[in-house]
Amino acid sequence: MTTKTYDVIVVGSGASGGWVAKELTEKGVEVLMLEAGPPRVPTRDFTEHIWPYQLKYRGFGNQKKLLADQPVQRLCYACDDYSHQFFVNDSEHPYTFPADKPFMWIRGRQVGGKTFCWARVSYRYSGRATEKPVLESWPIHQAADWLAITPRPHDRGALGEQIEAVRLLRRQLPDDVPLIETVFTPLAVLGEMVPEPGELRLHLRQQPNAVRGALEAVTTTYVPFVRALLEAGADGIYFATTDWASRDLMTPDDYRAFVLPHTRAVIRALRPSTPVIHFGTGTATLLPLMREAGGDVIGLDWRIDLDRGWAAVGQQWSRRSVRRRRR
Ligand SMILES: Cc1cc2nc3c(=O)[nH]c(=O)nc-3n(C[C@H](O)[C@H](O)[C@H](O)COP(=O)(O)OP(=O)(O)OC[C@H]3O[C@@H](n4cnc5c(N)ncnc54)[C@H](O)[C@@H]3O)c2cc1C
Repeated sequence: MTTKTYDVIVVGSGASGGWVAKELTEKGVEVLMLEAGPPRVPTRDFTEHIWPYQLKYRGFGNQKKLLADQPVQRLCYACDDYSHQFFVNDSEHPYTFPADKPFMWIRGRQVGGKTFCWARVSYRYSGRATEKPVLESWPIHQAADWLAITPRPHDRGALGEQIEAVRLLRRQLPDDVPLIETVFTPLAVLGEMVPEPGELRLHLRQQPNAVRGALEAVTTTYVPFVRALLEAGADGIYFATTDWASRDLMTPDDYRAFVLPHTRAVIRALRPSTPVIHFGTGTATLLPLMREAGGDVIGLDWRIDLDRGWAAVGQQWSRRSVRRRRR
């Protein structure tokens, strides 16, 4: 029997072990990687992009089974109907710690470790400190991909964190300081899913219903989300369409057909007394439509003469002040 001697043994193929192995092997070091868990097969194990109706529990999970098998892991927001298979079974992997020092951490047992727990979306640092990180892969590659965008729980993941951040801020802020929370419009959210905003415009032409469905999914998620932000302590909403609109890609007809109904639906879901700043840039031709969509304050940018902006929006729209709501 031949034996092979390795320079290094790496235990665990998660982010830490994976990177160590990559760096060492690229330098010609012989590495043996030991991994306690199985490999994952995309076609069998990845469920992030399937429809809720294809899941037995429609995205809510088998709570009885989760409680029985993953009582600790289920405390992590991502251990849900879609992704619980990437977390350990707590009875098979019990925790041991001194009784007076409880410590429970979240664990994944598979090739790739816990990177599977968050859908494997990774930003890579360019090495240039002045540049913002660039996403290497986007969820949308072609117009038909918009069909896969479905409503998500409004109080989990990044949205849940935002609600919690508002709650913490409100607790710390003096009572007379208003807190206006930024929320992006459904169009702005879709703009983040493609490498170039121009692609979204192309998709609007190629598969308008698919894009409309995605806008509806974001709107359905955002209506309870903005309400939850207000419940958590926000006094008003700064509703923003930034990058996409700033490139002058939208005609008034596009805005009316695709954007206005969804923006309006989110604004109308708020109590009429909630102050809303409706902000966009590069929107000189869209100001009357933004006004129609709603908001107490409409943002103007440097590209439009103030008088013209004022006239397009209507003077009465610029008079209301934002005060801290009494609770
Ligand atoms: C829900 C969630 C969301 C997250 N979101 C982000 C995010 O957005 N961005 C971010 O940067 N980080 C995020 N993290 C954190 C990130 O995933 C972890 O910090 C990182 O994956 C940890 O890597 P690791 O290699 O140290 O450990 P792990 O990924 O836990 O890897 C350990 C590996 O060792 C294996 N192993 C354990 N014991 C043995 C053994 N005895 N023999 C052989 N193999 C063994 C395991 O099977 C596993 O593969 C998130 C974590 C979670 C849970």
